[in-house]
Amino acid sequence: MFDKILIANRGEIACRVMETARKLGVKTVAVYSDADAATKHVACADEAVHIGGSTPAESYLKGDVIIQAAQQTGAQAIHPGYGFLSENPEFVDAVEAAGLVFIGPSADAIRAMGLKDAAKALMHEAGVPVVPGYHGPNQDAAFLRQKADEIGYPVLIKAVAGGGGKGMRLVEASEEFSDALASAQNEATTAFGNADVLIEKYIQQPRHIEVQVFGDGKSAVHLFERDCSLQRRHQKVIEEAPAPDMTEEIRAVMGQAAVRAAETIGYKGAGTVEFIVDGSDGLRPDGFWFMEMNTRLQVEHPVTEAITGVDLVEWQLRVAAGDSIPIAQDALTITGHSFEARLYAEDVPKGFLPATGQLSHLQFPDDCRADSGVRAGDVISPFYDPMIAKVITHGATRSIALSRLKKALQGCQVAGTVTNLGFLGALCAHQGFAKGEVDTGLIARDLEDLVALAEIKPATVALAAAAASGVMDSAHDESGFTLWAPLDHTVHLRQDENVQQVKLRVLSKTLIEVLVGEVAVTLEKGREVWRVDGQPAPGVFVGGSSVTVFDNYGVSFEIVDLLDQAASAGGDGNLIEAPMPGLVKAVFAKAGQKVKAGDRLAILEAMKMEHALLAARDGVVAEVLSQAGDQVEAGAALICLENDESAQ
Ligand code: ADP
Ligand code: ADP
Ligand code: MG
Repeated sequence: MFDKILIANRGEIACRVMETARKLGVKTVAVYSDADAATKHVACADEAVHIGGSTPAESYLKGDVIIQAAQQTGAQAIHPGYGFLSENPEFVDAVEAAGLVFIGPSADAIRAMGLKDAAKALMHEAGVPVVPGYHGPNQDAAFLRQKADEIGYPVLIKAVAGGGGKGMRLVEASEEFSDALASAQNEATTAFGNADVLIEKYIQQPRHIEVQVFGDGKSAVHLFERDCSLQRRHQKVIEEAPAPDMTEEIRAVMGQAAVRAAETIGYKGAGTVEFIVDGSDGLRPDGFWFMEMNTRLQVEHPVTEAITGVDLVEWQLRVAAGDSIPIAQDALTITGHSFEARLYAEDVPKGFLPATGQLSHLQFPDDCRADSGVRAGDVISPFYDPMIAKVITHGATRSIALSRLKKALQGCQVAGTVTNLGFLGALCAHQGFAKGEVDTGLIARDLEDLVALAEIKPATVALAAAAASGVMDSAHDESGFTLWAPLDHTVHLRQDENVQQVKLRVLSKTLIEVLVGEVAVTLEKGREVWRVDGQPAPGVFVGGSSVTVFDNYGVSFEIVDLLDQAASAGGDGNLIEAPMPGLVKAVFAKAGQKVKAGDRLAILEAMKMEHALLAARDGVVAEVLSQAGDQVEAGAALICLENDESAQ
């Protein structure tokens, strides 16, 4: 076994590999970009090497710099993770030329599977069923259209160099072919620098079923299948193993085909053979076709680990270090069922727009496996995949594993960014999915229902308002309120454009009455637990100017600070004053600095909340009268602007 390996990746997969390396007593070296200097994968490693700027092209795709980092730190092998350099045969050659071990297949095996057309031809020769279609070299538009006509519509145009669903177009009729071809070629050129395409029959009601294979360069085994049919725009959303309705007979036929594919190219390490399956009339031994082989560890490998008990990363390291396949085919078995859901920072109502943000709070429930590359306080940056975690559950049966997934997703607490948790939860509650009726069109067909926003309950708003105002904290703070006359507060909460006013009446340390519109909600504390109208209160997190209630997959509000508005509108605009007694947390203004109306000049912490103090007008800072750490009284002048000459 190696003494030390370098992981040429980031985030979740880098952390995942390090976990197994540690278990095996192997030291780890992380590499990181500017944006990743303070991330989890750097903290998890024994050593870390900075490799460049924030964009992948400046860092994680710089093979030469990464190889240098391995040599400098004395790492003997490089694990590529997935994405980035994991399927780049030139990188493999360079790693080996530097006298290091690439933890993965040979450059030749990657090349053989790198282009979808060549891979299909190779698989066809090896007797693996491939989707009927044209995957030859002739790229003439008229010729391709003629081929599509022969195959019969609908057909799929695919970039031969494609991946991640890019460069793929569904064509329903001959007239649409030319436009679709041009747009697929365009996308393929931009994304992969290769305009070549292949044409294949579009399988109706398709299911995506893939087989996990593992080779040692001489022979290969399979670790059964995963069903990844739950996709949005050809991207996997929830995966499971084994596949619903799979029979022993079909499993054996598919498994043998996958092993044949791996052995044909002398495959070494973990790989996935993806099949497209005709799901229109149940699974059939002659109803599946080779689609592509991913010559790397796959994002969804944990579901296979859950049902087989195999640590696939351990196998990768052992085989790369010279071992043969650790367990023979007939000793591999399936126990129970497993699901994985991909949790992303994504704005679902805005068309699944990737989101960014600082995760002010992040917590996963105990009864699931959560593979994550971020911690509370970490930032989802715009440079990389916005994945927050993979949530994985296992159970004796499919329905138990699915119930556990549902429950685990409900228990995930994320604040600081929007997430797709609600969407994942809706999928878990989908009746067809629950019955195992999966196909790649399921999400698109039922999208409207799956993304519908649940109505926000008054109880949720009440809890958010009480937490935002700090009265729940103060209620157990003995020194806080000494006079127990009812205390009234008004809180304004915003969601998108809607601002609602919530009235709080603190009746005692343990009793708060809340008025949300017309609805009265009671918050009462008994035995250290708050209850909302008699029900145990869900978790709440207040961070900066937002509050998140961990109910219904997380509901967030902006706390509208009327004090900000008062501060910015108040006085003659020259003085920025403390609107209430508090602690100056930060001062951003410097004497002589030009500021614009609305610029944040300082932060005051009061009532356990932060208030941004804004410039009331454009101007120049004359004097800064306080500094971070000062305790100030209400009305204290904090910053003074120069007299506005132009004002009259
Ligand atoms: P497929 O390629 O069939 O969609 P996966 O679902 O396993 O297979 O997706 C893997 C993809 O994830 C990679 O091809 C890549 O586009 C993307 N990716 C690359 N690096 C990372 C990363 N560090 N974190 C998350 N996703 C990544
Ligand atoms: P990528 O490299 O982008 O992962 P794939 O060839 O693996 O491309 O296809 C991605 C997805 O597109 C599949 O998981 C499946 O949902 C769909 N798909 C691919 N080929 C077909 C086909 N012939 N018929 C129907 N759907 C297909
Ligand atoms: Mg694929």
